[in-house]
Amino acid sequence: MLSWASRTLVAAMSTMTRKPEVLFVLGGPGAGKGTVCGKIVKKYGYVHLSAGDLLREERAKPGSKFGELIESHIRNGTIVPVKITCSLLDRAMQNSEVSHNKYLIDGFPRNQDNLKGWTQDMAEKVDLKGVLFFDVSEEVCTKRCLGRGATSGRSDDNLESLKKRHHTYINDTMPIVDHYKKLGLVYTFNGEKSPGAVFKAVEQVLTKIGW
Ligand code: UDP
Ligand code: MG
Repeated sequence: MLSWASRTLVAAMSTMTRKPEVLFVLGGPGAGKGTVCGKIVKKYGYVHLSAGDLLREERAKPGSKFGELIESHIRNGTIVPVKITCSLLDRAMQNSEVSHNKYLIDGFPRNQDNLKGWTQDMAEKVDLKGVLFFDVSEEVCTKRCLGRGATSGRSDDNLESLKKRHHTYINDTMPIVDHYKKLGLVYTFNGEKSPGAVFKAVEQVLTKIGW
């Protein structure tokens, strides 16, 4: 029989050595990925890593050698080379000091290059618990992003960029969702419902996977 102190120590050590648990969060531009992640963070305190936000932060750094490249991809709705995105995600995971080990990776992986780079550099370091996928029509996505564009200051929340982003989503990102569907990892939500209703459905999945 282990003493209480030993059991506590064993539990603490297993938290330290356990691989980080990851949920990918995917869906079209404006599908509500960031909104639902914000709600999860508020209620559960898990870590939200938005690949898009990390790229925008990197773009804004004075002297960043990737700034212009990132901006041109964002404006064109194309995907930044995975080496850049993966290293930002890896660094952000390492810099977040948390005891629960639970990470939401929002807006990644978005294409084959992302999937390949992730598989090579990161997949073995984490425990992928699933993919939350938010299904929203192009029409609704576009309306939401144009609404957001009025205040977001984002260089890609305009009609021209949105058309390109949607094209990338259908052609490049959906095959990644399908790849994970075949592995039985995808949880699909109707992202056109209210944020509260979407969050409720997501919470049921969180319970199911033991989060
Ligand atoms: N992006 C990328 N790789 C990623 C995530 C984002 O290249 O892993 C770029 C891409 O150009 C995308 C843009 O960042 O169109 C905005 O992504 P974000 O996820 O912030 O947009 P959202 O889908 O949330 O509207
Ligand atoms: Mg987002």
